[in-house]
Amino acid sequence: MKTFTYARADSVEEALAALAEPGTQLMAGGTELVNWLKEGIEQPDRLVDITRLPLRGIEEAHVLRIGALTTMSEVQASPWVRRNYPVLAESLLRAASPQLRNMATIGGNLQQRTRCPYFRSDTPVPCNKREPGSGCSALSGETGGLAIFGWSEQCVATHPSDLAVALAALDATIVVRSAEGERRIPATEFHTLPGDEPARTTELRPDELIVAVELPYIAPNSFYLKVRERVSYEFAVVSAAAAVSLAGNEIASAHVALGGVAHRPWRLTAAEAALSGVAIDDKAALGRAIEQSFVDARPLAGNEYKVILAQRAAVRALMTAGGAV
Ligand SMILES: Cc1cc2nc3c(=O)[nH]c(=O)nc-3n(C[C@H](O)[C@H](O)[C@H](O)COP(=O)(O)OP(=O)(O)OC[C@H]3O[C@@H](n4cnc5c(N)ncnc54)[C@H](O)[C@@H]3O)c2cc1C
Ligand code: SF4
Repeated sequence: MKTFTYARADSVEEALAALAEPGTQLMAGGTELVNWLKEGIEQPDRLVDITRLPLRGIEEAHVLRIGALTTMSEVQASPWVRRNYPVLAESLLRAASPQLRNMATIGGNLQQRTRCPYFRSDTPVPCNKREPGSGCSALSGETGGLAIFGWSEQCVATHPSDLAVALAALDATIVVRSAEGERRIPATEFHTLPGDEPARTTELRPDELIVAVELPYIAPNSFYLKVRERVSYEFAVVSAAAAVSLAGNEIASAHVALGGVAHRPWRLTAAEAALSGVAIDDKAALGRAIEQSFVDARPLAGNEYKVILAQRAAVRALMTAGGAV
């Protein structure tokens, strides 16, 4: 492991000044970053600990604002969040382990990187995300966990954050700050698609810090369904975040996003339009509406199962959000 210096930032301004120095990595909970150091994914000259910055806490109002340094456990345990945003609380409760959630922060969660095994490999293998231009081992290798939407020949990885999927469904905003001031990025656009720039994961610039996440409305009828290979301490094979408002038994509006299917949370916009007026307990009609968003699906040999799994997860999440199961 390369030698690096360690310093602690006592103010946001200090952290931003540190970011202006090339070779700096910010450290929040350290649960992802320390793995990168060990695996050689990142080799910074200096680590700047940001855990003492005043970016921790939950402001409960009509607009919910969560400081970037609030831990996953703190958000998940908030009675306000559990009551008004079950989808958010569930996405956090189903992530990682209690020990990790006690350390890991909301900002760090959004900045985590893919779990593609070739990207995380101990011995270097071709991976355009890790070494641009080296190739993509996954395309000709183990394809079971890869993307079915929005991938490119450069990279077919998925993003592993559960939280990001819930935030995309809830039309959240990621508030970021640089020396130039504040900028607001819709959660649906915060994570990038690989295109020709597979090394990139988010829209965050190197000189920017995530300061908060904001949610514009409450979503008491919402749910997060995570499908994984074992019941705890495992990343999603596929996940679905759904929020509905009902007029009697019918859907007045629906928000649905999928995880485990793309390099970013995948919002089902076409399906959302088709869901309007559908009875919340009509499983077949819900399924037909969800299918509207799968015309663009491009599964690979080995991950075709995700198409039907994701559709069923979305239907189940909707029905649970609407109280029909
Ligand atoms: C074994 C294991 C299992 C896991 N399982 C899951 C899972 O099932 N679901 C899931 O969603 N996640 C899972 N995770 C990921 C976990 O949620 C992340 O490791 C964690 O959220 C990262 O937060 P952190 O505060 O520790 O970030 P750090 O490790 O401190 O930082 C990670 C990156 O984020 C950057 N960063 C941190 N805060 C900010 C900020 N405010 N502004 C800008 N950049 C920032 C850092 O510079 C660094 O580049 C798992 C992790 C592990 C190790
Ligand atoms: S899918 Fe992406 S992360 Fe995985 S090997 Fe290919 S380029 Fe690397």
